[in-house]
Amino acid sequence: MKVRDNLEVIQNQIADVCKKAGRDPEEIKIIAVTKYVSPERAQEAIDAGVIHLGENREEGLLHKIDHLEDKPVWHFIGTLQTRKVKNIIEHVTYIHSLDRLSLAKEINKRSDSKVRCLIQVNASGEESKHGLRPDDVTGFVHELKQYPNIEVSGLMTMAPFTEDEQVIRDCFRTMKKLQAEIQSLQLENAPCDELSMGMSNDFKIAVEEGSTMVRIGTALVGNESEVQ
Ligand SMILES: *Cc1c(COP(=O)(O)O)cnc(C)c1O
Repeated sequence: MKVRDNLEVIQNQIADVCKKAGRDPEEIKIIAVTKYVSPERAQEAIDAGVIHLGENREEGLLHKIDHLEDKPVWHFIGTLQTRKVKNIIEHVTYIHSLDRLSLAKEINKRSDSKVRCLIQVNASGEESKHGLRPDDVTGFVHELKQYPNIEVSGLMTMAPFTEDEQVIRDCFRTMKKLQAEIQSLQLENAPCDELSMGMSNDFKIAVEEGSTMVRIGTALVGNESEVQ
């Protein structure tokens, strides 16, 4: 499938959900997750009109950057090792995986301006998942005040991998509540207006529940096996 066709399908689905939920589709950024695919396929996404691209590893990110003709807005969406911050920091606009103070300290040190960060939350409580427990997020946001280059732009989560829609929905609702809590604090370092949630299999539920950033790989650009 052409990325252009996939994009149209996804945009229509988002528009449908928004209509039912009384939301404006303009509020939702579609991030094409290009970790499975070639730079050529990533370029195809840009040519189709995608502005936001996401990678979860340093190597994948730098490889794409070297081979793309255009400069998309880059989102770093994977677990980030502290020692790798210096290699990616100048290239990315958003970091979706802030989950510890040591990482915040390093981002703060390696940048000379504000970095848009999303706090990764383990909203489902699965042991295998990275991220802070929901109860720990507010305290973490307060602690981040000591790092002037860290802006808490929002929260990010990955829903459990399950067929049970209600479980997924509950996870996204927890996130929306948490976002409201943080916004109500009106902290200068934490506008927190983004909610990064929803992937190929659950982005429609995520949009219904308030997502502003959907991270879509397989359904938009495909994965290696489909592309080759
Ligand atoms: C790979 C990945 C995605 C995209 O997954 P798909 O199911 O292919 O849409 C989204 N978010 C994160 C953090 C990922 O690692």
